[in-house]
Amino acid sequence: MIVVDNIVKQFGGFRAVDGASMEIAKGSITGLIGPNGAGKTTLFNVVAGVLKPTSGRVTMDGEDITGLPPHTLFHKGLLRTFQIAHEFQTMTCRENLMMVPGAQSGETLWNTWFGRRRIADEERALKAKADEVLEFLTIEHLADHKAGQVSGGQKKLLELGRTMMVDAKIVFLDEVGAGVNRTLLNTIADAIQRLNTERGYTFVVIEHDMDFIGRLCDPVICMAEGKVLAEGTLAEIKANDHVIEAYLGT
Ligand code: ADP
Repeated sequence: MIVVDNIVKQFGGFRAVDGASMEIAKGSITGLIGPNGAGKTTLFNVVAGVLKPTSGRVTMDGEDITGLPPHTLFHKGLLRTFQIAHEFQTMTCRENLMMVPGAQSGETLWNTWFGRRRIADEERALKAKADEVLEFLTIEHLADHKAGQVSGGQKKLLELGRTMMVDAKIVFLDEVGAGVNRTLLNTIADAIQRLNTERGYTFVVIEHDMDFIGRLCDPVICMAEGKVLAEGTLAEIKANDHVIEAYLGT
């Protein structure tokens, strides 16, 4: 689905990503691991259009998407989750979902003659969709809570929920598990698994928690010093001498 071909991203004279290549298969949950500073987040940002690569190419279903801005990729179904911005923290969880750009209730918009009524209908349908997403993520009880007041893990679920308001095909998740307790981490893992099997989402996941990676991801790709070191199941990766060396060297 996604082919990353020899991507280089340079900051000044420093190559954060130094010729990384990988393929992300449709329907997979691919894990991206590696020691701090390996270039994982930078590569994510290049693929998701947040950063332009110094050189190299990214294709999605055969189409060259290198350097396209995030909103264009968003419309193609390629999404990177983002932390909930400061100004959205005072809105409720439900409102946060309803605000996702491009979110539509799924009803046709033919009836512009009825103006106000149509807008009210549309809003009702969007609200219903947001409630459905909250229920899927088992946080329906937080619908009217302000986003800034829910826990770190619940915020992660909400970030995932925003991808469900649009027609996502592939979602890039950066450290979903960071600072999240075990119970919520399991809920997040379940949600990812269900989105994958029931809705056909493809995922690429950066995560340090190896239990989480082992439970969800196949294949796992390990990066170090801007390059791809190894790819395989987590067991294969853990047994790889280059990988062991890279982790011990940090
Ligand atoms: P990872 O996600 O694997 O921890 P990053 O992609 O965040 O790695 O960072 C890779 C390297 O690039 C690090 O050494 C980091 O300091 C550097 N880096 C990341 N972003 C920038 C930037 N905007 N300017 C300069 N250096 C950066």
